[in-house]
Amino acid sequence: MPTPALAGGASSPVRSGWAVGGVPFVQARGSGPYAFDAEGRRYVDYVMAYGPLLFGHGHPAFTTGLDELASRGAVTGSTHPDELVLAERIRGHLPAMQRLRFTTTGSEAVQGAIRVARAYTGRDAVLKFGGNYHGHFDLALQDAGASAHTDRPQQSGIPASITRDLAVARYNDVADVDAQLAKLGDRLAVICVEPIVGNMGLVQPEPGFLAGLRERADERGALLLFDEVITWLRLGLGGAQARVGVVPDLVTVGKILGGGFPIAAFGGRADVMSVLAPDGPCFTGGTHAGNPFAVAMGLRVLDWLESHPEAYARMNAHASELAAGIRAIFARRNLPFAVTQLESIVDFKFRAGPPNRNYDDARAADKALYARYYHAMRGRAVLLPPSQNEVMFLSTEHDAVDVAETLAAIDATFAELDLRM
Ligand code: PMP
Repeated sequence: MPTPALAGGASSPVRSGWAVGGVPFVQARGSGPYAFDAEGRRYVDYVMAYGPLLFGHGHPAFTTGLDELASRGAVTGSTHPDELVLAERIRGHLPAMQRLRFTTTGSEAVQGAIRVARAYTGRDAVLKFGGNYHGHFDLALQDAGASAHTDRPQQSGIPASITRDLAVARYNDVADVDAQLAKLGDRLAVICVEPIVGNMGLVQPEPGFLAGLRERADERGALLLFDEVITWLRLGLGGAQARVGVVPDLVTVGKILGGGFPIAAFGGRADVMSVLAPDGPCFTGGTHAGNPFAVAMGLRVLDWLESHPEAYARMNAHASELAAGIRAIFARRNLPFAVTQLESIVDFKFRAGPPNRNYDDARAADKALYARYYHAMRGRAVLLPPSQNEVMFLSTEHDAVDVAETLAAIDATFAELDLRM
């Protein structure tokens, strides 16, 4: 076989399956909750493209009438009317985004938000959390969760200098936040956090943690950024911020917003966002920022969710069934793994004890065992994320039959693994 022209055989390393070994999964097509490989074999899909596919693959609301959208012109060199409408509608659901700007990816959204925070505060330093993932730009990759592997920063193309303006704290650990903030002195521009984390397994903030971040940002005249690229729309139209009782200064969203097409946004307090050019000196932009085709898909996503409020309860019910079923299997087999579920997110790790609280917990999970589990499940036609830092995502299209099939596969897989704990 000649070496493929596609570097590493994948456009994003997680897809190479490097965390689980073996032959990478290649998806030829998708339909509803199912992924199909090149041989036409059907898998119940819990990757869901790492989050965007809240409606499953190929949902008619996002696959019909696309010629008409494309025929208006897929991209323009100017602002267009839909873009203004979509921004208003996002603000209607996320009042913390008083002003917002579109980008193409979540990475760009977070990068833009951090630049705005630096411009607004006139300071450089960022506090982030181990095991949170904010994209693939330099500072975000320090101790990042998800499928980022940058253990050797000197060789990974990330300048050593970025660590001068960066501190990484342990999630759910206010004492560690204080210790890290002390190192930054009066240079803190922004605290950047996933308010509910989906990149080191599913990790929920403990009571007082996010309020503690709010307080510390305020004390220092710094800003608080909630990265809701996974959680907005996954956890409802109000996102994580509607649940946690803490109001951020800056917010990033993406993934589900595009209905499978690439669009993301960052925004926040009007006074903070006013540093952006042309009003202020801080530049962000992009050829495809606010791409009309992707914006039209964003409007469809909001149309669909606003007119189907029952969809969340249905997803939640299927996800609860799945979580309860896995718990029952573990109880019957005397396995010490904790199962967590929040709305359409389901997760467990191969580590005895309570659910992950932070990245240390996530790193302590048994990776070799997960790799065996992943491949055994794939053999039983269930597609899981090929990394234990990721979570299982359900969609509006997963139903009780899919859940039952999945539980049967999990049961058979644990019988085969024959774990004695
Ligand atoms: N923030 C979070 C919380 C994410 O989960 C991700 C992607 N997994 C990103 C930012 C980056 O988004 P993108 O991959 O679209 O650049």
